[in-house]
Amino acid sequence: MGRISRICCGPYESISYLLISEKGNAVLIDSGPPAEDILNALSAEGARLELVLLTHLHFDHVTGLPELEDHLGVRALAHRGDLEIFPELWPHDYGPAPEVHPLEGEVRVDELVIEPIHTPGHTPGSVCYYVSNMGVVFTGDTLFKGNIGRVDLRHGDPEEMRDSLVRLMDLDPSTFVLPGHGEPTTIGAERANLNEYLRWLSEG
Ligand SMILES: [Zn+2]
Repeated sequence: MGRISRICCGPYESISYLLISEKGNAVLIDSGPPAEDILNALSAEGARLELVLLTHLHFDHVTGLPELEDHLGVRALAHRGDLEIFPELWPHDYGPAPEVHPLEGEVRVDELVIEPIHTPGHTPGSVCYYVSNMGVVFTGDTLFKGNIGRVDLRHGDPEEMRDSLVRLMDLDPSTFVLPGHGEPTTIGAERANLNEYLRWLSEG
């Protein structure tokens, strides 16, 4: 079975994860920390980066990407809902926006099967990545430990967030939640907070 390495945090306190197969092939979830930290983690794990999956395209989850693309020629995928607004989201003082391709469903790397769950609300193209045979879900800025992502930013939508959270809570309660900021949690622990989250969303 594969393993996971957590890369924390860089200037924006955002977390990336390496999901590494038994053969040492890795998928990077988000690229917010400096590329150097990600490259160091890959070499410490003896892993080869195959693909980058982005939970959404806010700058604090993607600024490591241009350098990774330069060093490794790696391909990055995100949901079309965020690709449409990427030119607006990318901080142009970081240079030209990196190339990001549309996500087209399930991703397989060796024995790893990664199922994207479209969870709009924080952004239109926010995605959680569920790996059922490892019992983990990477939730980006949709769900945190004891909190949910902001919906008051441009492109945020409280009603979509509501539906997304309700759908996420259908996962098995033992599923580990690995968010884009802060500590891990579980679906079961967050299900206990769901009513409170829904109340926040309805009160705006
Ligand atoms: Zn965000």
